[in-house]
Amino acid sequence: TRQIERKPDWLKIKLTTGDNFKELKNMMRGKTLHTVCEEAKCPNIHECWANRTATFMILGDICTRACRFCAVKTGLPTELDLQEPERVAEAAEQMGLQHVVVTSVARDDLADGGASIFAATIKALRKRLPLCSVEVLIPDFLGNEQSLRMVLEAKPDILNHNIETVERLSDKVRAKAKYRRSIQLLERSKHIAPQIPTKSSIMLGVGEEWDEILKTMDDLREVDCDIMTIGQYLQPSLNHLPVTKYYPPSEFADLKAEGMKRGFSHVESGPMVRSSYHAHEQVKSVKQA
Ligand code: SF4
Ligand code: SF4
Repeated sequence: TRQIERKPDWLKIKLTTGDNFKELKNMMRGKTLHTVCEEAKCPNIHECWANRTATFMILGDICTRACRFCAVKTGLPTELDLQEPERVAEAAEQMGLQHVVVTSVARDDLADGGASIFAATIKALRKRLPLCSVEVLIPDFLGNEQSLRMVLEAKPDILNHNIETVERLSDKVRAKAKYRRSIQLLERSKHIAPQIPTKSSIMLGVGEEWDEILKTMDDLREVDCDIMTIGQYLQPSLNHLPVTKYYPPSEFADLKAEGMKRGFSHVESGPMVRSSYHAHEQVKSVKQA
């Protein structure tokens, strides 16, 4: 289609499908688990899985929100699956993962937003894979502080919550989530568990200005956010927000420099960067810091 033809060269990727990869995909089907790597058709899947990193999506694959950039289905969510934490841990063990990212759809229908399942998943992973680092990429739990506490008490290695875009565009791009509420979540996390590094991501190409990106960095540093990732937005379908700009690799490099200047311990910035890309290296950067 026209959209795909317009993509610049640096976004074209080579796909390889090895036997090992197919085996892992089949295993995932057998356990009725969802990975963002597969669902979001992430361009980094081969590299990440080969590097023993994967992102699991818990609490079902149907979201109670409908953000305008996101390919996840919207609707009435599935029943809560209490066995899911154990199955995630089993799959992570079989994949020999060294870094697991656990994320979820927004479950605004649940009183705790799904926080107890996040906590149970962290604990199940710790039990089976004591050496594996665990990063949680959480929704905003509608600002519920108790839910955030529940997740932090299970001691993830990284607490990740995405700001997604600049303040001016937040209401247009994200459904229900609020820019200031997301900043507040990251701030609260630092107050409740200062030893747990925080992380946030922004995607570029939805209409933001350069200065607004820098302002977002300042806002994140203001609440001591440790790690930032910056990637290119790609339109999942014609019904989603159009891409306003494809940033060249040189601009991503400039943004990385701007971020490092501001004191982040790690900034991952590039056209193909996704929230969990090179996440394992990010854990190391914080642990060394
Ligand atoms: Fe999966 Fe994240 Fe890697 Fe993409 S970047 S393949 S979502 S772990
Ligand atoms: Fe997608 Fe998350 Fe928005 Fe749901 S809340 S539509 S999963 S970005």
